Amino acid sequence: MPIIRQLPTSVINKIAAGEVIERPASVVKELLENSLDAGATRVDVVIEKGGAEAIRITDNGCGISAEQLPLAVASHATSKIADADDLFRVATLGFRGEALASIAEVSRLTLRSRPADCEAGAELEIVGGKAEPIRPVGCPRGTSIEVRQLFFNTPVRHKFMRTTQTEMGHITEAVTRLALAHPQVHFTLTHGGRLVHDLPPTTNTRDRVVTLFGSELAESLIEIDSADEQIRLHGFVANPTQSRGNNRLQYLFLNGRFIRDRALQHALGEAYRGLLLTGRYPICFMHLEIAPALVDVNVHPTKMEVRFQDSGRIYSQLLGSLRSKFLTTDLVARGAVPENSQDSVSEAITADNEIAASTPATSELFEWAKRQLNTPDNGGLAAQPSELRSTDSLSLHPFTSVDRRTVSETSEQSSYRSDAAEATVPRPPSSPAALQIHNRYLVVENEDGLEVIDQHALHERILYELLRDKVLAGVLERQRLLVPEPVDLASSEAAAILENREVLAQIGVEIEPFGGDTVLVSAYPAMLANFSPADVVRGLAEQLQTEGKQPDVRDLLDELMHMIACKAAVKYGDSLTPEEVTALLDQRHLAQDHHHCPHGRPTALVFTREQLDRQFKRI
Ligand code: ADP
Ligand code: MG
Repeated sequence: MPIIRQLPTSVINKIAAGEVIERPASVVKELLENSLDAGATRVDVVIEKGGAEAIRITDNGCGISAEQLPLAVASHATSKIADADDLFRVATLGFRGEALASIAEVSRLTLRSRPADCEAGAELEIVGGKAEPIRPVGCPRGTSIEVRQLFFNTPVRHKFMRTTQTEMGHITEAVTRLALAHPQVHFTLTHGGRLVHDLPPTTNTRDRVVTLFGSELAESLIEIDSADEQIRLHGFVANPTQSRGNNRLQYLFLNGRFIRDRALQHALGEAYRGLLLTGRYPICFMHLEIAPALVDVNVHPTKMEVRFQDSGRIYSQLLGSLRSKFLTTDLVARGAVPENSQDSVSEAITADNEIAASTPATSELFEWAKRQLNTPDNGGLAAQPSELRSTDSLSLHPFTSVDRRTVSETSEQSSYRSDAAEATVPRPPSSPAALQIHNRYLVVENEDGLEVIDQHALHERILYELLRDKVLAGVLERQRLLVPEPVDLASSEAAAILENREVLAQIGVEIEPFGGDTVLVSAYPAMLANFSPADVVRGLAEQLQTEGKQPDVRDLLDELMHMIACKAAVKYGDSLTPEEVTALLDQRHLAQDHHHCPHGRPTALVFTREQLDRQFKRI
């Protein structure tokens, strides 16, 4: 029978160190948090060899008196909470009372401190958990902690340390997170004698972003501020012109603490749906302020994950405030023309040829698209003044270009036309003249300069939004096939489709197994009547395969709407008459976000007159 023993303190501290102190950056994080909790207004971080050699952090906070020094480095000793109830109203960054004890256990630590009201300071040195006697020293007000030879007595951890550069990267990130959360504090970061960051105090997060990430990103920031009685959300999100290939630039702070929260990251992604290309992530610097009682920060040793009492509410507040902000913000893509390169422009203009060049649209599809614009429930759209122009331009609605020759005129359209012919409404001051180039782009003069518009992307966006409105309004009828249609699939496609039958049923697509890699489609959404079941099912299979486990119903629905919008829109390569161009441009304003196609690519690039002047060396 094994014997049960009480572990010695040093082992307990080593275990705690294993949880909290993963690498040099963890030491930096813990020490910085202590400095901030001590009310410091200036903190200097000095690093040698990526922190493996030395980490020195000096602050001008409240300090620790000589008598209290031994307690500061004792485990489970803290000045921040007194009893268990305090756990639910934590207002400081630390409260577990184990960071200093853990760090002291696995390094050579020297702590010097002097509270404002003491004349002399005190110094305590601890080597691998063993404390030397406390000595009086002369030192400035505040605390300075030096950690040398981290993990010198834990060879396994030591082995896990990466290159100086990698460890320094983590340290810089730790400093960045705290510096963004506390812009009112002056931080400096020095590595190997070189000043990496000097972040003077400011009242504005935007200034911090400029110093940390440069002015291009900072200039693209959109301010968000929304509050109800219990939650305040404030900070910045980047214009979709700025994004990253991962979510590392998503800085979320809860009551001054950097957190990672999947639900909130998801809300962020949702808010940018259709504004960013797949695989691109939004950028944000957002602060959440919540009554401490409504959140549990004690669920993770490093406190990076938290548990909200009502996470659904925070999710919808974040999503809602971003969405409403985007509706009133001009999210246009600027045609970036860097001083020395013309290439980026052509890169930015790369269009969606693969998709656009596919399947020719049918005349039914045209009819469908036209109905979307003329049905009474979209009456507001049909009544757009731009459509009441001269007689000849009416028949040259941009949708006709889908298949101009096979369009059969409906009585609806003819009568509409004759009405309009009688109406002598003068042409409203609508879209300016535009030039179609290479049957792909429309070039338009605007107030600031000129715009190059991707005809397919723009039309696709307009159609997509019309569809989305319909779907949101709940008009997603399903249509049962008289004879279920078999569709042959690749085996991976069949597996993806069959595994997700229930989700597919929710969007109106009913599927049954038919043996082998064949499935039977028995019903699908009426709005897809013009597509072959095989196209629909294959499109969905592709989407399911990229989504992986637990596909999102909204994503699938979105995929269907993309398919329709893409096929019904004018193509890349379609020649448009001047009237069609005008009609398309006029409809731009029907779309909430006409700056991005549904896949998130820009629909237009803007070249300001100033940019042009600069390029032509006129200024
Ligand atoms: P915690 O931060 O969870 O309380 P720590 O082990 O990090 O635990 O610190 C223990 C205690 O030491 C803190 O509660 C605080 O009273 C004191 N302390 C640590 N660092 C500082 C500092 N830089 N300035 C003033 N007091 C400090
Ligand atoms: Mg602490």
